[in-house]
Amino acid sequence: MEVAGSDNQGREFKSSAEMWKEQLGDGTDSHKKVDWYRNGVGYWQEVDASVDGVLGGFGHVTEPDIKGSEAFLNSLLSDPLLNNGNSHRVALDCGSGIGRVTKNLLIRYFNEVDLLEPVPHFLEAARQSLVFDGKIGADEHKATNFYCVPLQEFTPNSGRYDVIWVQWCIGHLTDDDFVSFFKRAKAGLKPGGYFIVKENTARSGFVLDKEDCSITRSDLYYKELFKKSGLHLYKNKDQRNFPKELFPVKMYALTTEVPKRSRLSRCKQHANRPSIIK
Ligand code: SAH
Repeated sequence: MEVAGSDNQGREFKSSAEMWKEQLGDGTDSHKKVDWYRNGVGYWQEVDASVDGVLGGFGHVTEPDIKGSEAFLNSLLSDPLLNNGNSHRVALDCGSGIGRVTKNLLIRYFNEVDLLEPVPHFLEAARQSLVFDGKIGADEHKATNFYCVPLQEFTPNSGRYDVIWVQWCIGHLTDDDFVSFFKRAKAGLKPGGYFIVKENTARSGFVLDKEDCSITRSDLYYKELFKKSGLHLYKNKDQRNFPKELFPVKMYALTTEVPKRSRLSRCKQHANRPSIIK
């Protein structure tokens, strides 16, 4: 993206290429990339395994966050174009932290939820709180797998998921790893499944956070990377009712193929005519 950006100390970059070159080197020095990821996870290793911890002191946004996510998820699950008719639904919660999204939302809608989180004490907290939930409704809804790996090293089992949920963690990935993660993870979706990405957005370009080694991308920047990943943007929505001092948050629903809307409506048009069965 040839668009200017800045870091959290007000330093300007002419382009994302300039910023990445500074963070990661020119590709010949793999140490810099290792450091980028080590510092990212290292930041979270020092953070309390609590809702306030994973939300950077903004634990109170959980309520509007979950409400907004639930409305968005419902609009997708009820969509006949995407509904694969599968009654056993499975989700993956990426960068799950302590399992806040799974516990408050995903576990109610999916029969199984897998969690992926590279920070061991977060994942352990998630396991503890979800095992208890599992006992309540163990037959129908449960947290199944707990993967302690970062997104850039993860490849999901093929065809397992109805939804792959990515919230507040993709900023830790470099552009190349962002694209290759989605390319790999596509195979993890069932037909008709989708990615839901819920992230902070920069007003333009990007904002680099040197403290936790992450970047906040603009809406345009996300869209460009989704396109490079071969994903189709099916729906997006702004999160409402968040404190003004926070970055605006957007939700994106992405599919691996363009939903066959035009074919469906054509069928409808001709429904009362005799037609050849193909
Ligand atoms: N999604 C959770 C947690 C957000 S905090 C929620 O909404 O409550 C950001 C999370 O991203 C932390 O748990 C952090 O450990 C995780 N993270 C950091 N680097 C990551 C990486 N490379 N891959 C996956 N997750 C990462």
